[in-house]
Amino acid sequence: EIDTSKLRAWVEIDLSKFKHNIEVIKELLHDDVQIVGVVKANAYGHGDVVVAKYFESLGIKYFAVACIEEAIKLREGGIKGDIIILGWTPSCQKDDLIKYDLCQTLANEAYAEELSKLPGTVRGYVKLNTGMNRLGEPKEHMDLIEKIYTLDNIKVEGIFSHLSRSDSKLEADIVFTKQQIANFDYVINKLKADGFELGNVHLQNSYGIVTYRDLHYDLARPGIILYGVPSDPLDDTLDNLPNGMKFEAPLSLRCKVAMVKDVTPGQSVGYGNNFTATETIKVATVTIGYADGLSRLVSKKDMKVLVNGKYARQIGNVCMDQMMIDVSGIDVKEGDTVTLIGQEGDNYLSVNQISLLSNTITNETLSVIGERVKRVYH
Ligand code: PLP
Repeated sequence: EIDTSKLRAWVEIDLSKFKHNIEVIKELLHDDVQIVGVVKANAYGHGDVVVAKYFESLGIKYFAVACIEEAIKLREGGIKGDIIILGWTPSCQKDDLIKYDLCQTLANEAYAEELSKLPGTVRGYVKLNTGMNRLGEPKEHMDLIEKIYTLDNIKVEGIFSHLSRSDSKLEADIVFTKQQIANFDYVINKLKADGFELGNVHLQNSYGIVTYRDLHYDLARPGIILYGVPSDPLDDTLDNLPNGMKFEAPLSLRCKVAMVKDVTPGQSVGYGNNFTATETIKVATVTIGYADGLSRLVSKKDMKVLVNGKYARQIGNVCMDQMMIDVSGIDVKEGDTVTLIGQEGDNYLSVNQISLLSNTITNETLSVIGERVKRVYH
């Protein structure tokens, strides 16, 4: 049992759900494929060091983060495995790449060359642009890709690319993804034919794993499915996994009731007087707001929360640190717990609701949960 007496707004993480999700991912992959735990953005809001350490205890040897600050945090937090920085690092930070034994994504040949001119050997992963046009060299630049492998001061440990539309069921997107895969395989096969030692080859993100199951590379990079939820809140792909397997969400988001009062007809609630009572209602002010990562876009859309096992609706504009809910007919007092995401009694609210109401994907809803929201684990 977690002692919540001193908590205002918090995230509860059930670590055992991660173990389950990793088992499901392993079932979806070929036996010899290793998982890269994508723990960027504070492990999608779940707390990067604790989550990565838990993954490491389960045998995960590779981790991916967005930037060098996240990578150093993991290393200083005790992570022993390979830490791949997926994004750009200023070349002047090469010393730290070496000091912390990190693997840097080589966004293109010019960047790799810049790094290679500085003293010391850095571990690198070649990035290919197979269609997303974010980072990487395209297949048309075979000469540059091969040159990266030959640069001094860079130890190339692998090569990868990223799928931009693997979550879509639209025919045009499937055709596009297959073209990305073909572009990737073309470069990999050419490098092999030319005698290069490629290192770890990887392409699949979450939906690359779930939907493109015949792919077989050395590593796979699941993010959102580790966290047990669909990316698009309306997508049902994860409800239809083979053998009835299901992912489970480790995260709950909760806060407290600060004050309860009656609001009478004609009185309004919150900034902009954006809600006006038409009958007497009981209103609870609760301790979470947009500075905690709850988008202000959810305001006044009847977002449901759970209080003492019953559903209540959000009213008025979400404030920076607080919001109001209509608790008419519910037995509520100061200090009671309010659930925005997670199980309470027999009822459950998934991250999908907030994501839908704020017009985004669950990846964003989770990763923007604020720093001041305490993470507690069980
Ligand atoms: N690989 C790369 C390069 C990424 O940028 C990301 C996240 O966006 C991932 C893997 C994980 O993606 P997902 O959460 O869709 O599995």
